[in-house]
Amino acid sequence: MKTNIIAGPCSAESQQQVMATAQELRDLGISTFRAGVWKPRTYPGNFEGRGEEALPWLQKVQEELGMKVAIEVATPLHVATALRYGIKIFWIGARTTANPFAVQAIADELAQALPAADGTKLLVKNPTSPDLDLWIGAIERFRKSGVKNITAVHRGFSAYEKTEYRNQPMWQLAMDFRRRMPDVPLYCDPSHIGGKRELIQPLSQKALDLGFDGLMIESHYCPDKALSDADQQLTPQELGQMIDSLTVRDSNTAAEGLDILRKQIDELDSQLIDIVERRMMVSKEIGQYKKQHNLTVFQSGRYKEVLERLIALAQKKGIDKRCAKLIFEAIHEESVRQQLEN
Ligand code: PEP
Ligand code: MN
Repeated sequence: MKTNIIAGPCSAESQQQVMATAQELRDLGISTFRAGVWKPRTYPGNFEGRGEEALPWLQKVQEELGMKVAIEVATPLHVATALRYGIKIFWIGARTTANPFAVQAIADELAQALPAADGTKLLVKNPTSPDLDLWIGAIERFRKSGVKNITAVHRGFSAYEKTEYRNQPMWQLAMDFRRRMPDVPLYCDPSHIGGKRELIQPLSQKALDLGFDGLMIESHYCPDKALSDADQQLTPQELGQMIDSLTVRDSNTAAEGLDILRKQIDELDSQLIDIVERRMMVSKEIGQYKKQHNLTVFQSGRYKEVLERLIALAQKKGIDKRCAKLIFEAIHEESVRQQLEN
C-alpha cells in the first residue's frame, strides 16, 4: 500500500452492502474498514444510520475478513455499545470535536471503560470551524483519559460561501496543526473536503505532497445507491485506480536533493542579513548627516519614492507586492530606530 488507507462506506446500510464492500476493499490490500453506524445529519428525516443493528455486521468484517473496523462515536453510549461488539477504533466526527462537553463525556467513558477499552484507537477529525485550539484541546482531553493511540484527521472546514469544495481544505491550518502536535499522526479525509468523486484524487495527491501520514476515504460497492454522501463515494475498483495514480514522494531519495537546496537557501538568507547590515551602516551615516543639517529623520516623500520603486522592481521579478511592502517596511522601521539612536 502506498500510504495508510482507511476506507469504507459513509454508512453501514445492510449486511450485504457491508460485506460486499469490505471484501473488495480487503482484496485491494486495505486493512482498516470504516463505516458510520450513527450518522450526524444536518436535517431531521434523513437516513441516520442503522445504529446497533449494524454492529454484528461489522463484527463479521473483523472476524471473517480479518479487517480492523472504525466507526464514528458521538456519545458515551455509542462507545459502550461498540465495545460490547469488540469494535475498538473510533472516530470523533467534526461536529462532535467542536463540542467540548461531548468530547469530555466520551473521554470519561473511555477512561472508565479501561481496561476493556485498552488498545482503543481514536481518530479525531478537525472541528467544523477553522479553530485549531478546539481541535488540539479535544485531543488533549482524550489523552488525559488514557487513550494513547490518537490520530488527527483533516476533513476541511465549513464556509458559508459555496465553493468547489464541500468543506474548505485550508491546508495551512493542517500544517499549523502538524507544527503544534508533531507527534500526532495526521490523516486527510478527501471525501468530506471534496464532496464529489472527481476531487478525491487531486486532494489525496496534495495531502501526500504535504506529508500527511494517511488517508480516510469513503468507498461503497454501489455509490449511486448510497443512503448518505452518494456524490463523494468511490467504488472499491475506482479507489484502487485512484491509489495507483498517486505519487508518493520518497522522503529518503528526496532528502538529498532537498538538502542541497536547503543549503542554498541558508546561504542566501545569510547574504540577506549581510545586505541589511550594510544598508544599516549607510543609513546611520545618513542619520548623522540629517542631524548635522537639522533635517528630520523621517521624510515621507523619500519613503514613498523608495517604496514605489521597490514594489515595481519586485513585481517585475514575480514577487507579490504585499511581500515587497512588508520587507521594506520592516527594514525602514529598523533604519529609523537606528538613526534615532545616533
Ligand atoms: C463521516 O465520516 O461520514 C462524517 C460524518 O464525517 P465528518 O464528521 O467529517 O462530517
Ligand atoms: Mn460521509
